[in-house]
Amino acid sequence: MKQGRRMLSMLGFVPAILTMNSDLALGQRHLYEARTISNGSIARSAASYDTTTSRMRDKLLLYDVKYYGLDLDISTAATAFGGNTTMRASVGATPIDTLVIALINTVDGATMITDSVIVDGVRRSFVHQNNLIQIPMNPPIPGGSSFTSRVFYHGDDANAGVGLVRGSKYGMTFMYVYIWPLYASYLFPCKDMLEDWADSVDIAITTEPANKVVATGALIRTIPTGAGRIRWEFASHWSLPPTDISFVVGPYAEYRTACYLPAVGDSMVVRGFLFPTSPMLNKQIAVIEKSKEYLAYFTSLFGVIPFWRNEHHFVTTDWTGGAMYVLGLSLFSELRFDTAVVDRGSFQVYFVPHEMSHAWFGSTVGPLTECDLALAEGFATYAEQIAMEHFLDQSAARNNLALTMNFVMSLPGGSVYIPPADRYNESRILDDRLTYSKGAMILHLLRFELGSDSLFFLHMKEYLAEFAGRAITGEIFKDFLQRQTGRDFNTFFAQWYYGEGYPTFSIRWAWAPGKVKIVSTQSPSMPSVTPFFQTSLEFKLKYAGGDTTVRVFQSSLTDTFRIATTSHVDSIVVDPNSWLLCKVNSVTYDPKLIPDDDVQQIPSSLEFALEQNYPNPFNPKTVVTYQVPTVSKTRIAIYDLLGREVAVLVDGQKGPGSYEVTFDATGLASGVYLYRLTAGSPSTGSGPRAKSSGFVQTRKMVITK
Ligand SMILES: [Zn+2]
Repeated sequence: MKQGRRMLSMLGFVPAILTMNSDLALGQRHLYEARTISNGSIARSAASYDTTTSRMRDKLLLYDVKYYGLDLDISTAATAFGGNTTMRASVGATPIDTLVIALINTVDGATMITDSVIVDGVRRSFVHQNNLIQIPMNPPIPGGSSFTSRVFYHGDDANAGVGLVRGSKYGMTFMYVYIWPLYASYLFPCKDMLEDWADSVDIAITTEPANKVVATGALIRTIPTGAGRIRWEFASHWSLPPTDISFVVGPYAEYRTACYLPAVGDSMVVRGFLFPTSPMLNKQIAVIEKSKEYLAYFTSLFGVIPFWRNEHHFVTTDWTGGAMYVLGLSLFSELRFDTAVVDRGSFQVYFVPHEMSHAWFGSTVGPLTECDLALAEGFATYAEQIAMEHFLDQSAARNNLALTMNFVMSLPGGSVYIPPADRYNESRILDDRLTYSKGAMILHLLRFELGSDSLFFLHMKEYLAEFAGRAITGEIFKDFLQRQTGRDFNTFFAQWYYGEGYPTFSIRWAWAPGKVKIVSTQSPSMPSVTPFFQTSLEFKLKYAGGDTTVRVFQSSLTDTFRIATTSHVDSIVVDPNSWLLCKVNSVTYDPKLIPDDDVQQIPSSLEFALEQNYPNPFNPKTVVTYQVPTVSKTRIAIYDLLGREVAVLVDGQKGPGSYEVTFDATGLASGVYLYRLTAGSPSTGSGPRAKSSGFVQTRKMVITK
């Protein structure tokens, strides 16, 4: 069985074999990020069948981990290792009568043995069973207090393929940690839950002098021990879940460089730990140099990585494919350590930017539970797309987008959100199609709905700044977007994040002098779950000598749009810029549509709109976005609460389109102000409550000084 699982993960990287197994052909992830094994029988899911064990596991929830300290002795000559782990935690309201810490017993051929347990300096008796260390506390640890535990243990993960794994390549033997996303308790005693981020971590590894060690955090010092070994000490002061703790031990060749970050006025160190005799060594050094461009570009878009002092590490492994990242440390198969886009069966992967972007999506802000893993994996997958748009030519980026969308739509259903019942099901949580690819489409669709790249990247940057160091959910991301934009994203999340499937459009259209009429009908792929997709939608109207792209909003299964145009439209293209996750079934010219039309009243697809200013509150500048459907006299003015006009932002004729105007409130006092768009027919009266027969919309803005 173990053998079989290992084989599966290795075969997964061979494209020729992908087509032989439909499961793998659909990209069931073994190949993407991790080379893993997955048997669904990890300690936790096995435990969940046993109510006594799951009650005992619930005791993990009684405390909140603040700190882990790992102090391990590791040799590349043997897979067995040992040492101790310190855990500092604060206790919730409930006193702890039995302190429970997760550590596997014997699972998947891995064995961990607990030697002794010390709680707050006192040696304690314990029972180590059902993958939990259970320590009776009499008297109980009081609610609201804190405790420090230290567990001495030893073990061997030799046959598990997770935990502390030994690899070998070019005659060199090395040890590396592979515990993401579910296997922390195969390595060390901990609260093995993604949702509990420790505030800081120290790692000390003692090993043979020939080895180098790279670990989570920054290297503090190396100390020779009396026994002819070297102790390497690392510290990380950035919060992280237990599965982000990592280290690699081996006689690696080190390549060191630095990437200057103008925003901090200092450089982030980028280091490679490479096989000294690899024939690809020069290429790998080139990849590391290139990675600095990704780092700089992502920093410009998403802000400085808050833990930039931790350094960024690239480590090569003996994997036949795949790569993975945990805080500051990325492991790569040599074949995947490449600046190029790599074909992966039905889609493509841009591995280095993907892993690098996890510094933001995963380690700066991470998913609270496995259910929202797309916040890390989907967003990192979209970072690949963003990097392609910048570093590769546009046709490569478009091609990747099309492949990703086709892959998502290769099956009718499946949600980005992982139902709680599946949260320990590794093949589901790491599903390439749903968590990675459809998760990436969440950001793509959001970018479309926001209608502006500058707004999209600004919101992403602010999202990362606001939640830095925290684990959050898709719900929290949604609430953030609603707060920042003043818009309702409930429907968006209901259909794209929690919902399933995608719409297929059937379009009928006709042209008559002065107008185009389009009837758009949707058929959803999973109508029982998501009966309808409420969405923005673009049409490109093509005519002799040019084209115009218009944007409409489809709010029912069949919607009719009338678009004023002075050109003779020859053909139309649905979603010309590939913004929507959708298919187009047919685009049919149907002249019968026009006689039904009311020729006298042809509203444009564009509507008048005044958006919430951004940022808000602000000081001193903010941006107001508005939309005008037809040539109109347009005015935007700002009023205080007494109705006095204090500024005029826009006053004049505007053609159809979407506009931004910056308002500088220098000279105005703090407080609430109103801003009002009047357009179309001239208004009567003045002030924020004036009447108009055209379009009028008023919104609030807040100046804080
Ligand atoms: Zn990833």
